[in-house]
Amino acid sequence: TVRVRIAPSPTGNLHIGTARTAVFNWLFARHHGGQFILRIEDTDLERSKSEYTQNILDGLKWLGLNWDEGPIFQSERPEAYQKAIQTLLDKGAAYRCYCTETELDEMRAAQKARNEAPRYDNRHRNLTSEQEAAFIAEGRKAVIRFKIEDNREISWKDLVRGTVSWKASDLGGDMVVARASADGGIGQPLYNLAVVVDDIEMDITQVIRGEDHIANTAKQILLYEAFDAKVPDFAHTPLILNKQGQKLSKRDGVTSISDFQKMGYTPEALVNYMTLLGWSPPDSTQEIFTLSEAAKEFSFDRVNKAGAKFDWDRLNWLNSQYVHKVPVAELLEKLIPYWQEAGFEFNPETDHPWLETLVALIGPSLTRLDEAVEMSRMFFIPTVEANEEATAQLQQPQAKDILTDILAASSDKSELNAETAPEIIKQVTKAQNVKKGAVMRSLRAALTGEVHGPDLIQSWLILRSRGWDGDRLQQALA
Ligand code: GLU
Repeated sequence: TVRVRIAPSPTGNLHIGTARTAVFNWLFARHHGGQFILRIEDTDLERSKSEYTQNILDGLKWLGLNWDEGPIFQSERPEAYQKAIQTLLDKGAAYRCYCTETELDEMRAAQKARNEAPRYDNRHRNLTSEQEAAFIAEGRKAVIRFKIEDNREISWKDLVRGTVSWKASDLGGDMVVARASADGGIGQPLYNLAVVVDDIEMDITQVIRGEDHIANTAKQILLYEAFDAKVPDFAHTPLILNKQGQKLSKRDGVTSISDFQKMGYTPEALVNYMTLLGWSPPDSTQEIFTLSEAAKEFSFDRVNKAGAKFDWDRLNWLNSQYVHKVPVAELLEKLIPYWQEAGFEFNPETDHPWLETLVALIGPSLTRLDEAVEMSRMFFIPTVEANEEATAQLQQPQAKDILTDILAASSDKSELNAETAPEIIKQVTKAQNVKKGAVMRSLRAALTGEVHGPDLIQSWLILRSRGWDGDRLQQALA
């Protein structure tokens, strides 16, 4: 059976690239009725933080990427790595290297001077026991290096890229698999070693991860061989690129899933969008689908080799499609946290009726949920300040007369409603002998402090239910 995994390092919040890799793993697992496993790669104890782990777990859950096993923490399995490294040492596939940082720096400087790529020159591969004893007597601590034979060529059939080949001589020489340890034993395992040990032990059948891991894959295949283990399939997914065609990074601003969440993207839209970053469904005109719908169709045949450009317009469009489908009551629930975060004062229970009207009013123009804050500010605060355009509108020759009439007609009305409000506008238009647009613009400027906005009658009715429309008309007249 298919067993795939996502293996984030908790050294930052859940990144869009990691999340997209998780999406592809999830889709592949579900397509084949297999298992999707979560492993937290926290061997780097200095940079790993539990709040990042929490952020990753929350983000995956929010996106609907439920996992079948895990989370498994690498930090909880030091013995497994120690044992594996000992196996390599016993087999003669690995050795202790006592080089100091200074020696390594000098080695690299000399390579640079000869115009050579930096690599470890395997100088401690064949130390005699006397040499080792001398280094230990000096107090040097050893890292463990895994032997990489330069004459090897490593190739695999990548599920995305077809046959990929690497010359072992391009892998930088014998690689460190464990850090030095103060007590002279085997220190902290490094990424390539820990990954292979885990992927073997967890029976991973396909390793699906970003293209930036290709060189690691070549190294890891050598480790599989050293452990006499079956090599899994590999799929290297295209990177996500920014507008300039470079790998999307922190410098591009928003990159973590929790940022997208704060900005008011819905998980359904975001996950739909990420699915399209590098994959297209067989019916390529289909743009909107759920994760399970995509899982039915998913295969690596339809994953691109080329990098996938991050397209905000497309994401925004998808998000608006999802937001506009959400029923009013549900959308209200989603918007409440944004208004609370903005510091608006309201009571979700007692204010429920006008809040629903408000959501019905602004919902259709929302692209992102966070936009609801600015769009509805005028309904949460008692007074508004007219902006420049609204001020100019209120200074139009007949504006005062128009507003005086409206105030008189509407304050009389105990019941301002969807019939009486347009009726008042009509009457005032006639009485003042102006165009209806002039009345509407003046009324809007007075009520909202702006000249553009959502439906005027609806806005007026909401402000009436807040008890604020009369005061705003008076304020505009003052
Ligand atoms: N911890 C690695 C990363 O976050 C995992 C790579 C892999 O899937 O092997 O990039």
